Amino acid sequence: MSDQHTGDFQEVLNQYEQGQLDQLSCTRCREEQVSVYFDGPREVNSMLWTRVYFYCHACRAWDRLTYPGFPPHFDENRDILGLDI
Ligand SMILES: [Zn+2]
Repeated sequence: MSDQHTGDFQEVLNQYEQGQLDQLSCTRCREEQVSVYFDGPREVNSMLWTRVYFYCHACRAWDRLTYPGFPPHFDENRDILGLDI
């Protein structure tokens, strides 16, 4: 995983992996308005990958991770393309 993230983001990531997909803390503005969205899965080099976006509805900042296959708590109703960002 090549993305560089702060320790704060690691906490958000842990919460996400434990199943919290809404009202996560924003690492930038500190509002608890970050929601998780997905992009994928897509096939690249005959492997499936899914991008996971952490989008803050308060300050519009976002972070992104890429997971092989289906990421934890994948929900097709949380498609990033359904968001106007
Ligand atoms: Zn924010």
